[in-house]
Amino acid sequence: MAGMSAGLEAIETASRDELLSLQLERLATTLRHAYKNVDQYRSTFDAAGVSPEDCRSLEDLRHFPFLTKDTFRENYPLGLLAVPRERVARIHASSGTTGKPTVVAYTQSDIDMWAIVMARSIWAAGGRPGDVVHVAYGYGLFTGGLGAHYGAERLGCTVIPVSGGQTARQVSLIHDLQPRIILVTPSYCLNLIDEMERQGLDPTDTSLEIGIFGAEPWTDEMRQEIEQRLQIDAVDIYGLTEVIGPGVAQECVETKDGLTVWEDHFYPEIIDPDTGEILPSGEEGELVLTSLTKEAMPVIRYRTGDLTRLLPATARTMRRIARIKGRTDDMLIIRGVNLYPSQLEVILLRIPELAPHYQLEVVQAGNSNGLVVHVESREHLDDPAARALAATAAGRIKDGVGITVEIRVAEPGSVSRSTGKAQRVVNRTS
Ligand code: ADP
Repeated sequence: MAGMSAGLEAIETASRDELLSLQLERLATTLRHAYKNVDQYRSTFDAAGVSPEDCRSLEDLRHFPFLTKDTFRENYPLGLLAVPRERVARIHASSGTTGKPTVVAYTQSDIDMWAIVMARSIWAAGGRPGDVVHVAYGYGLFTGGLGAHYGAERLGCTVIPVSGGQTARQVSLIHDLQPRIILVTPSYCLNLIDEMERQGLDPTDTSLEIGIFGAEPWTDEMRQEIEQRLQIDAVDIYGLTEVIGPGVAQECVETKDGLTVWEDHFYPEIIDPDTGEILPSGEEGELVLTSLTKEAMPVIRYRTGDLTRLLPATARTMRRIARIKGRTDDMLIIRGVNLYPSQLEVILLRIPELAPHYQLEVVQAGNSNGLVVHVESREHLDDPAARALAATAAGRIKDGVGITVEIRVAEPGSVSRSTGKAQRVVNRTS
């Protein structure tokens, strides 16, 4: 794309005022477009007593009703479409992590905008035109693969559209085609690293220099693990199907301090998930996103279900979000204590004898829930050593989050591996 090879887009380093006035202008257009063309918005705006003309400042957005995943499901498949079906260039669907997948539509201009924010994301991660990019996010209805693909092409990269799975082949392709950048879920990346070792290859010795990881919660401890084992820079990318796909927010490699939200296209708010009240900047709550330039399916105040904090701008003009802690739906209540899997990941990955492969099993324990943590040791251990390691981990978890859990230290390779989004919580009888 013309201009892209020259560096950042002008808006990425524009003044805050310039960005704010662009946001307001785009927000007004989006509200009018949604109200005029989508029954759902017309009826919920009317019921709330607001009309697009009531939004005179960005703060006024707070008076508009929320949109939820359930509303997408109720309007399945294309009830939220704001353009004639003939103008739809592409359909995608969410992964269905929390239930029936939602279906979304894009006009050609939406596809172009998505490619631009993904190209911008890859640039922010350190990618440059001419780089070879290995895309191991799934292709198909899932937005990960094609989203990354169009963005990398737009940036002027050489794209290898591998998709997920066929792990041995992925490793051969990395060896043979020498990519500089990989886009993949962090959990599947670990799987690839293990496969490299199985094939007798040295993971620190690949051509890879940058990994762009997202689609599932991960932690700074996981970042360190991946950076050390692959000798790369590992950065975070965030997005979701209902809003566009990957490329809503991207961590800049020069700061590695959370994800810059591409605020000229997606307006963020953080709310208290229980009351819906907007929280002050810096407080943890649920991320709410409003699209500012989407045509086919504009989203107004979409409740993502994702927990994070809004942070001031650093590497760009746009504000950042902190690493996503998890979804409100991921919260476990163990012996009366609220717990997110990512809190346990931080503790487990700090124990050097444990491998970064784990699953959590919720079990009935009297009147409340108990938790069994299945985690692998890095090396084969005899029973007493495994039990001692389990006791250490259980002690750290008790100290860290205040609950007693049962740890089962499993043999290397025995915890099930992901080829896409990791399933951290399982219900199995063992
Ligand atoms: P589904 O909601 O069915 O999983 P998607 O495939 O659209 O559908 O996935 C989007 C969701 O993936 C986000 O709402 C978020 O929960 C999760 N996600 C995406 N990127 C990240 C990330 N970088 N960190 C944590 N979670 C992420």
